[in-house]
Amino acid sequence: MKREIRTVLVVNSGSSSLKYQLFDMKTETRLAKGLVERIGAGGPANHAEALKEVVKALAAKPDAIGHRILHGGEVFRDSALMTKANFAKAKKLVKFGPLHMPANLGGVEACEKIFPGVPNVGVFDTAFHIATMPDCAGMYAIDPKFYRKYGIRKYGFHGTSHKFVTQAAAKFLKKPLAKVNLVTCHLGNGSSLAAIKQGGVVDTTMGLTPLAGLVMGTRCGDIDAAAVLSIMESEKKTPAEMDTLLNKQSGLQALSGVKGGDCRDICAKAAKGDKGAELALEMLAYRVALYIGAYNTVIGGADAIVMTGGIGENSSEVRARIINRLGALGIKLDRKVNDKTRGVTAVISAKGSKIPVVVLPTNEELMIARDTVRVLRG
Ligand code: AMP
Repeated sequence: MKREIRTVLVVNSGSSSLKYQLFDMKTETRLAKGLVERIGAGGPANHAEALKEVVKALAAKPDAIGHRILHGGEVFRDSALMTKANFAKAKKLVKFGPLHMPANLGGVEACEKIFPGVPNVGVFDTAFHIATMPDCAGMYAIDPKFYRKYGIRKYGFHGTSHKFVTQAAAKFLKKPLAKVNLVTCHLGNGSSLAAIKQGGVVDTTMGLTPLAGLVMGTRCGDIDAAAVLSIMESEKKTPAEMDTLLNKQSGLQALSGVKGGDCRDICAKAAKGDKGAELALEMLAYRVALYIGAYNTVIGGADAIVMTGGIGENSSEVRARIINRLGALGIKLDRKVNDKTRGVTAVISAKGSKIPVVVLPTNEELMIARDTVRVLRG
């Protein structure tokens, strides 16, 4: 018997915090939203304790729960009901996300305890990519034994966001999902692009981990692997130290000197003539434009370029710097519309552009809620 699903609780369980949103699925409106912080560090002792605080904030038990899970490996090519078997499969993927995965799965276990009888669905940040990405884009050119032994390949991340804006863009363009070709740009503190052909991913900029691709807040993105080895050797760094350097001490932060690499602060610094901040913005824009050009080729021509994420939705300055590099694709910026577009859907390319550039606010939580319903309805 199929149960009716009116409300879905979306849980994003991190190592020290738990974010949640409750949706009414009939209207797709948000009924509640909250954050429990300092788990295990002065706040609640664990995720189950944190969820008890969520229970207090909710008027009733949700009909279903959707969980954000970082890594689905090659096992999860779609969102999945967290049965015992699937949970065991997900546990084997902890090696791909030793920081996030235990907390994500801990959230599932805690919900089973606190909300007995309520189904839990895992929504994997990698699944949208791994479902359709061909080997020519997804494999690395190293001995395939490393893929077989350790699963070393490209997985991609932000899949839930790329999926949400792909669906939203198809609707906006009035095209069937299965026919839409896009370059989706999720530009935030972490950033990635996806090449979408006929509604599915054929390439994406992040890799085995979120370190690859674009220049990000504190991540370097693409770099010659030999440069990494060279620094390790010269500075006698361990793999863990090098991991911290590349993930937490690089990117926009390292180039601009702005801690955390917040785009607003970098734009302000660049406007005052700071050379490091200016280079940071130019490198960010350059690499996005580079990948837009490449992805437009691999999908055989885009119906639209989509911009989303904190920077993509809000920073007219970064968008302008990107779009001004896309003249060869016949794309021109509508400066006026771009300047006033913040967090809303809008076409920011000029009339007559060969490919429209569309700003589309993402909503990963709603995507997780929708997937939860879809999985449970079978
Ligand atoms: P996210 O990770 O998607 O939350 O995005 C965070 C990034 O978006 C940060 O670098 C912010 O500086 C940037 N951002 C948010 N709002 C604005 C804005 N109004 N102008 C420029 N950047 C913004």
